[in-house]
Amino acid sequence: MREIGLGFGSNVGDKVDNVRRAIARVFAGPEFEFVVASSIWRTAPWGYLDQDWFANACAVGRTSLTPEDALTFTQSVEEELGREQTFRWGPRVIDVDILYLGETRLSSERLIIPHKEMMNRAFVLAPLAEVRPDLVFDDRSVREAAEAMGEQGFSRLAPPWRPDQG
Ligand code: ADP
Ligand code: MG
Repeated sequence: MREIGLGFGSNVGDKVDNVRRAIARVFAGPEFEFVVASSIWRTAPWGYLDQDWFANACAVGRTSLTPEDALTFTQSVEEELGREQTFRWGPRVIDVDILYLGETRLSSERLIIPHKEMMNRAFVLAPLAEVRPDLVFDDRSVREAAEAMGEQGFSRLAPPWRPDQG
């Protein structure tokens, strides 16, 4: 079993509920064992700016899946929750990204681990710093990277998902 870090984002429909349902779904079966989740944050759009705000959260689990199988599983959860392909960085019902998987370093056409942009994205770092501030990527801790970014007008929308919320 290795630790897996996941990032969740939604900016269509009931965003907080979409994030909660995605977290509930990824930890509902045998694939990922729940460890801890961050608060759900309200964040500004990134990349393509002319779209609604996002709800973002991170969750930490444990898994024995391979990186590829972990991605296949998270993609099946995105599909189940009704994600439709729009365009890169465009509006989405739910986005589930693999942030890290144990000490895995991997770069293929389909999958890059650790996630290649996580240390540059405040909407990942702010929630991840709540639950794993001492993790280090590229010689920087998540806490340092998050503090360097500032909260950028982000705010906490909802408390962390818990397994008893179903
Ligand atoms: P983004 O998350 O960058 O907004 P998408 O969710 O549409 O974009 O992902 C595009 C592709 O990114 C996916 O089809 C997947 O194959 C690839 N990908 C590469 N690395 C990762 C990762 N660590 N987690 C999730 N998807 C990844
Ligand atoms: Mg994604």
